[in-house]
Amino acid sequence: MKLYDTARQAVVPFEPGPVVTMYTCGITPYDATHLGHAATYVTYDVLQRRLRDRGHDTRCVRNITDVDDDILRKAREIGVHYLDLAAAETARFDSDMKALGMLACWSEPRATSAIADIRKMVGQVLDRGYAYQSGGSVYFDISAFDRFGQISHLDRPAMLALAAEHGGNPDDPNKRDPLDFVLWQKSAPDEPAWDSRWGPGRPGWHIECSALALRELGGTVDLHGGGSDLIYPHHECEAAQSEVVMGEQFVRHWMHQAMVRMDGAKMSKSLGNLVFVSDLLKEYDPRAIRLAIVSHHYRDSWEWTDALMPEAAARLDAWQAAAGGHSDTADGVLDQVRARLDDDLDTPGAVAAIDRAVATGTGALASAAALLGVSL
Ligand code: ZN
Repeated sequence: MKLYDTARQAVVPFEPGPVVTMYTCGITPYDATHLGHAATYVTYDVLQRRLRDRGHDTRCVRNITDVDDDILRKAREIGVHYLDLAAAETARFDSDMKALGMLACWSEPRATSAIADIRKMVGQVLDRGYAYQSGGSVYFDISAFDRFGQISHLDRPAMLALAAEHGGNPDDPNKRDPLDFVLWQKSAPDEPAWDSRWGPGRPGWHIECSALALRELGGTVDLHGGGSDLIYPHHECEAAQSEVVMGEQFVRHWMHQAMVRMDGAKMSKSLGNLVFVSDLLKEYDPRAIRLAIVSHHYRDSWEWTDALMPEAAARLDAWQAAAGGHSDTADGVLDQVRARLDDDLDTPGAVAAIDRAVATGTGALASAAALLGVSL
């Protein structure tokens, strides 16, 4: 199997051992699941299905960020405890994922379950000389880590722009360098706080994923995923702090899902251009939602349009009608779908192979579609 690796900037062989360890960044549960989330998790679901089909065992960890700036702000706005908001939104997310037929995660830990692991890790980064205390918070010192930029390959101005856009607070006066990032942050008076040897505070944005990946998977992770908007700063920072502590490579292969756009811009809560999975589920078969997603390649950013769902629903109907009349023993189309998925998870190519089999009335349609998570 070959997959594009963000860090190496090339399609390279992905040849894990019998057990494949995966970590994908999960949601901050403060609002409903939108199509961008669904596209990301469908991609790693299809990858896991093909890896299992190839005989691997997969262990995919997906965290739940139940304490961060976004969830605390929303909880304050609507006047509920942040953990009650997290519990309610996590339940809605789980129900959407289940409806979409996603494989269950091997583990789905919450950030607040990892405070002890996080404090230990922050202490290790400090003790090794890669961090400093300032203004009641602890910051990673990027000048001490010479591989900073190894994943994103961005220059300093591009990093500064993204840090400003994604809550990296480059203007924080407590930092020595605007690109230094917070490991442990002093809590505001109305925010949750945990005791630590640096004073009461809460985890920085990136540290939970490092702590949870290490705790749950125990060493270098085979594949780390997430949306492409996480490459910088989130994944660059995760890798830096993890490698300081682990003394070895954090991740062998970085795989990122491109953004789903709507009205010409990335689908995002801040712009409000969102399509919610729960709304689509009221009108469409969940398998059609998967088909609308997998008819696009995970590395291509694509535009959500109103035509997509009717088109996907018609494709599902055609596949289902054809599946009944097909022998499921002839495996030509199954081989083609496997070959397409092994070529950088070419799901549009796999969909096209099944379309051809449907048109010509040959092949093991149900087994081929099952690799895309579509049960006929
Ligand atoms: Zn993460």
